Amino acid sequence: MLEVADIATFYGRAQVLDGVSFSVAPGEVVALLGRNGAGKTTTLKSIIGLVPPRAGRVTFRGQDITGWPSYRIARAGLGYVPEERRIFTQLTVAENLEVGRQPPREGAVGWSEDALFELFPNLAERRGNLGKALSGGEQQMLTIARTLMGNPALVLLDEPSEGIAPVIVAQMARAVRRLKAEGLTVVLSEQNLAFARAVADRAVILDHGRVRFDDSFAALDARPEVRDAHLSVS
Ligand code: ATP
Repeated sequence: MLEVADIATFYGRAQVLDGVSFSVAPGEVVALLGRNGAGKTTTLKSIIGLVPPRAGRVTFRGQDITGWPSYRIARAGLGYVPEERRIFTQLTVAENLEVGRQPPREGAVGWSEDALFELFPNLAERRGNLGKALSGGEQQMLTIARTLMGNPALVLLDEPSEGIAPVIVAQMARAVRRLKAEGLTVVLSEQNLAFARAVADRAVILDHGRVRFDDSFAALDARPEVRDAHLSVS
């Protein structure tokens, strides 16, 4: 579904990713883990074309998308939910969803507003409320729901559990598991190992812009030294 092959990404002269490679099978949920500044966000931005890699290749559904502008990558079926929530604060929840609506796409889950309200029951209760009235966690859910209205085949989630209340984190984890059950492919960046373990099939650990580990959580548990060397937590 997605293949990231040996990408090198820079901000100006500063190299942030140094030969990052991993692949994601259809229907898989992969967690990118690593400390602050490890390169997780930059990896997602490289995939979606916001910071195009200077070397290496990104292939999505068999198509080389390296160097494509972001809007074209999004149109090809790759959804991106940035860390900072991007909702329209002066529009209602339902209107925010409407803005994200795209025609159904072949090989992707077709999302309706009703299905999204089922996925995020909090949003259903607030469908007539303005975006600005939502809590941080609800805004995060709305950003994800609006991206899903575009019917992506794969969605990139940047730190979905960041800065939200524990009860909402649990709801977010349930929602990501539901996305997988619906057949969506997900790549998410996380600092929260417990959240990643609860939702993902596999962990890809980044440190200083390189992949240090790429395997199951069971395999990670068998190598505590990897966790100690490259993750902050717990
Ligand atoms: P975080 O959890 O803090 O988002 P991360 O693993 O996602 O961490 P990145 O945001 O990808 O890490 O940052 C990787 C490195 O790139 C860091 O050293 C960061 O300071 C640097 N960096 C990020 N954005 C920029 C930018 N716009 N210009 C210059 N350097 C940047």
